[in-house]
Amino acid sequence: MQFEDLGLDKRLIKTIEHWGFSEATEIQAAAIPVVTAGKDLLASSKTGSGKTLAFLLPALQRVMRVKSLSRRDPRVVILAPTRELAKQVFGELRKLLAGTQYKGVLILGGENFNDQAKEFRKDPMFVVATPGRLADHLEHRHLSIEGLELLILDEADRMLDLGFAPQLKAINDAASHRRRQTLMFSATLNHQQVNDIAADMLNEPRRVAIGYVNEEHKDIEQRFYLCDHLDHKQALLDRVFEEEEYQQLMIFTATRADTERLATVFADRGIKAVALSGDMNQAARNRIMNEFERGLHKVLVTTDVASRGLDISNVSHVINFDMPKHAEEYVHRIGRTGRAGNKGTAISFVGPKDWMSFKSIEGFLDKKMTFATFEGLKGKFTGLAPKRKKTFAKKPTKAKKVQKTNAKKDAPKQRNKSFYKGVSVGDQVFAVKKKKAPDTE
Ligand code: ADP
Ligand code: MG
Repeated sequence: MQFEDLGLDKRLIKTIEHWGFSEATEIQAAAIPVVTAGKDLLASSKTGSGKTLAFLLPALQRVMRVKSLSRRDPRVVILAPTRELAKQVFGELRKLLAGTQYKGVLILGGENFNDQAKEFRKDPMFVVATPGRLADHLEHRHLSIEGLELLILDEADRMLDLGFAPQLKAINDAASHRRRQTLMFSATLNHQQVNDIAADMLNEPRRVAIGYVNEEHKDIEQRFYLCDHLDHKQALLDRVFEEEEYQQLMIFTATRADTERLATVFADRGIKAVALSGDMNQAARNRIMNEFERGLHKVLVTTDVASRGLDISNVSHVINFDMPKHAEEYVHRIGRTGRAGNKGTAISFVGPKDWMSFKSIEGFLDKKMTFATFEGLKGKFTGLAPKRKKTFAKKPTKAKKVQKTNAKKDAPKQRNKSFYKGVSVGDQVFAVKKKKAPDTE
């Protein structure tokens, strides 16, 4: 669909045409009209499908077309789980704001608190932030968001995973204006916690889901290799470098220490590599991302701090040196490649310690994976046998316990059913919330 057909402002269309984008992606075509109509939205679509513009364009449209409700408060707040992602979203926003009179600020954890407080005094219209730091500023009354019109949560499920629910709630409460609109975006929104917070924060939301989360990403070739131990993983990795044609690679490890260790291994082999992890100071994180984006490094070794949202066009390969614990993170990690119609390759190493994660990813994607091998590098490990379930049926006390846990598990699911009435149009699902969730306070 053309951007013009979405009723977007001419100035916005001109800007994005200038970037070479002529057609809206599916999620943009589906989400933009919902947002411009003023509705709350829960939107999901695969990684790399253009969700950022799906919320930025209608946000700008609103600011351009609708008169402000408050003279000083920001009109749009966008939250993202990591500093790197917030920075990237801000970068896109800034390009859209260039040449307009509107001002936006980027508020990240790890940067100078007082300098940020000063930024708020300039009354920015757009705030892009990580939730912890914005909540801190609200607590210190460095800004008011009472007049906020649009609250956008990018990678909403990840923010909840990281334990930001209280901050999100504080931000939501500080902005409880009756005309406020809230949007949540991610590739993975089928999450109990997301449903709970959505029931709390969203008002009769529409649900736009392009495709299904377990649908295969056609532009990403996925390969799995069984491995015996760390040295075996290293040998496989070396082979990948020998045999694959790559531009830039992102390698994910389980721990921060491993990022450093692997980056050093690469350095020894004369491959330009750099490590990024959450415990580095912000200046170092900024420098590393900037250098990687500019192509100064071939390899970025990182943890799940970089699994979400980052859009670096030359990433041809994603390697899971260790499998992620959460299946959703697998989808996001591999989604750092194969973006905007480009092809990518995802290679995963599955050792004994990764086996359970691997099985849960198989379950999540609802697909039986097969294993590839490199000549001469086939190991002994072939997977772990499933654990046999013990039955306690004869002991009444334990049987009771089992029943209880099941009942607990089932309860939220049932509750959800009553929240949403789904209507499917093609592969889009619109759901209308029927009643407000019971207050959790
Ligand atoms: P997502 O958030 O869905 O993972 P992004 O918003 O990061 O995806 O977009 C992925 C890439 O697609 C970005 O490089 C972006 O500039 C590009 N893109 C966005 N919209 C379009 C479009 N309509 N046509 C072509 N490319 C687009
Ligand atoms: Mg995104």
